[in-house]
This record gives sequence, structure tokens and C-alpha cells, in this order.
Amino acid sequence: GPGGQASKEAVKSADRAHVFHSWSAQGQIDPLAVAGGEGSYFWDYDGNRYLDFSSQLVNTNIGHQHPKVVAAIQRQAARMCTMAPGFAVDVRSEAARLIAERTPGDLDKIFFTNGGTEAVEHAVRMARLHTGRPKLLSAYRSYHGATSAAINLTGDPRRWPSDTASAGVVHFFGPHLYRSHFHATTEAEECARALAHLEETLAFEGPESVAAIILETVVGTAGVLVPPPGYLAGVREICDRLGIVFILDEVMAGFGRTGSWFAADLFDVTPDLLVFAKGVNSGYVPLGGVALSAAVAATFDQRPYPGGLTYSGHPLACASAVATLEAMAEEGIVENAARIGETVLGPGLRALAARHPSVGEVRGVGVFWALDLVRDQATREPLVPYNASGAANQPMADFAAACKRGGLWPFVNMNRTHVVPPCTLTESEAKDGLALLDDALYAADAHTTA
Ligand code: PLP
Repeated sequence: GPGGQASKEAVKSADRAHVFHSWSAQGQIDPLAVAGGEGSYFWDYDGNRYLDFSSQLVNTNIGHQHPKVVAAIQRQAARMCTMAPGFAVDVRSEAARLIAERTPGDLDKIFFTNGGTEAVEHAVRMARLHTGRPKLLSAYRSYHGATSAAINLTGDPRRWPSDTASAGVVHFFGPHLYRSHFHATTEAEECARALAHLEETLAFEGPESVAAIILETVVGTAGVLVPPPGYLAGVREICDRLGIVFILDEVMAGFGRTGSWFAADLFDVTPDLLVFAKGVNSGYVPLGGVALSAAVAATFDQRPYPGGLTYSGHPLACASAVATLEAMAEEGIVENAARIGETVLGPGLRALAARHPSVGEVRGVGVFWALDLVRDQATREPLVPYNASGAANQPMADFAAACKRGGLWPFVNMNRTHVVPPCTLTESEAKDGLALLDDALYAADAHTTA
């Protein structure tokens, strides 16, 4: 069609015939054909517009088609589309400098990858070479990516089909007061018991065999779990005492999502390695990376780092990161995320919880929130069982369908809906989204015992 716009039917039939989709039974899906997007919205070929409360996969922190970033990609394409990682390239240097300027502490060297999972793979390799130790510890409630080490580190059920016993990964429980593994009733108790559980896990594994502990600063897909005060500082202290590398995965939490540049800033902790992707350039061109502390970087001063990627520091991706970080600073986008969370989303979601028997807990910060949906507020029984599919997942499917009918694109995982709009969300968009969630929650309420 004109301007390269294919018809909806052509898009759908070629998709069905030739596109193999992630995480799906190929015969059981019916992907929405998307025609475009702008800001906090995207739309289909039938004139339906959706308020994107999932930011795609929680990555479009500056919204769709930010004009400054689109222009920067176009400019970079005209002057230099690609250049191998062995060269010093202006936009690569500048992207690394801008990222290092924002990362906490002495995380001043950047290794670029194409996305989050590759960054996790490399962080883990760096930690193992730095310490000379084999094992890795990660949380059950976590997602770290879909490649070999990253999927083994992942705690959620996406790990199960790809798990390999040889990976040297040990899982433990992090803090989560609402569904406490430790029978705790206060944040302070949960924090102390979660740290004691980690210490005990280490004692039984043999701390001298552990290269790294990896945690999402704020756990993302597995539930938007904001750690209690003192937890991350406690993990930092354990790592220092036992010579273990502390890796923070900020793939989802970083670059404005929590209303700060990094979630680590909220807790005043500096990891040895910080993993990023998604929000660094809102996914306009694939990009991720690892920020290294001076000590880990020094391991590879005279000894070669045994790893690389054809597209490490890809100029188009780096140019889009530079433009994204500049736009975020110029337009106060991180501050907007903090303000919208504190003044509109937080209070608005708590008001929904007061009205809807299906909302068990509201938790989050910035533009990073979860509603934990339950069958019964008193027992906290989840609205659907852990990892439910098919008929067992009907209550959540009904809720998601109600959101979409109303024009809101939700993020749904197990018994939770996450409220993860762009950091650029306006107050009126936030209020519209809350109203649409309000309507859709009646579909969840229908499945409660109340
Ligand atoms: N780590 C976290 C915390 C994530 O949320 C994700 C993706 O959702 C990843 C790693 C993997 O990133 P990618 O999908 O870019 O490989």
C-alpha cells in the first residue's frame, strides 16, 4: 500500500505463515496487528487506540516515537550505520560516558550488548573470572533473561523447560512481605529473616565457591517487589565480607522506571556490576550492557576479557541512547515518573484497592506498580494459582480482555497486573488509565469469593 502500509490481512497472514513467536504455542496465538504508536499510545488497523500501560515489555520509558530520538537515529543512519566494536566511535564513547555518569559509585566502564540477557551472561562471566569461583546465587522470584546462564538464574517458571543441572546456580527467597516465606509480619522482620536465610544458604553452599549474587534491585516481572529498607545494604555487606561479586540487574528497574535514574539510588547501594537494557534507549534499537566497578574492570587490564559481540556498542543503538538520555534530562522525564507515581498512580491505585475485593495489595514506586489480585483478601489466595494456564487462568484472561475492550493495554503476569506506563505519562493519561483499570477490575471481582 501507499508509504509501505500493508493491509491488516497481509500483515496477519504473513505473520501466521512465517513469524515464529516467543514463549508461545504457535497455533494458539492471534497477535494484534499494530499499525503505529506515539507517546503513551499505540493503535491497530481498525482504529482502536490503546493506552500502553505495559510500555511494551516495560521498555518504552520515553514512550513511542520520541521525535528527538527518531531524529538522532535518522542522523546516525545517514553518517555511520555500523562500525566494529574494536574501533573508538564518537557516539559509542558518548553513550558510555553518559551512562557511567549516571550509574552509582565507581561503575565507570561500560560493556555494551544487544539486550538484557546477553548483559547478564557477560556479568556472570566477569564475576566468575574476577573471583575464580563457579557458583551463582539468584532469587526464586526473578527474571534475568532467556539465554543459557540467564534462564538458569531466572526463578520464575520460564526456567523449567530450559534448566540444566550443570549451571551452578542456587536459588533462594528474597523478601516479599505480602507473601512472606519467613512468616514475618513487619518489613523489618522480613528483612532480617531474608538476610539470615541468604547467610544460611551461603553457609551450606560454601561461600568460597560462590562467584556472585544477582538480584533485581526492584524485582520486575515476578511481582514488582520493592525490597525493605536495609535488605540490599545487608546483601552488599555479606558480599563484601565473603568476597562475592554483587550484581544488580536493572534491566527493568533502571533508567527512570522507579522515578530515579537507577533503583540502586533509592537504597544507596553500589553493586560491583550493574546490568542494564530496555530503558537505556527505550528499545528503539536493541541495546544493553554491563557497568563495571573499577575493581572488576582492573581484572581485565592486563588479561584479555574472553568475550565479545559483533554488535557491541552498535552506532545506531548508541546514538539512540545518547539522544534518549539527553531527552530524559532536558525534559525532566525521571522526575515526572517520580511525581506521577507519588501524586497520581500510587493514591489512585490505593483508591481502587479500597473499592475492589479482587485487589489484595498495591505496591510499587515511580511508574513501576503491581496489583496483587486475590480470590479472598483475608486469606490472600491468589486470583489464579501459580503458573496457571487454560481454564485455570480464566479470571486473569477476563480481566485482560476487559482492559483491552476499554482501550488499555495491560501487563499481566500470573495473578498480577503491573501498572508500568512510560515515564513520560501525563497526569490526564494516568487518570484515564486508572479509570479504565477501575472498569476492568469488576471482571476480576466477579471471580472473588466476596
Ligand atoms: N533482566 C530483567 C530484570 C528483565 O526484566 C529482562 C527482560 O524482561 C531481562 C533481564 C532480559 O532482557 P532481554 O529480554 O533484553 O534479553
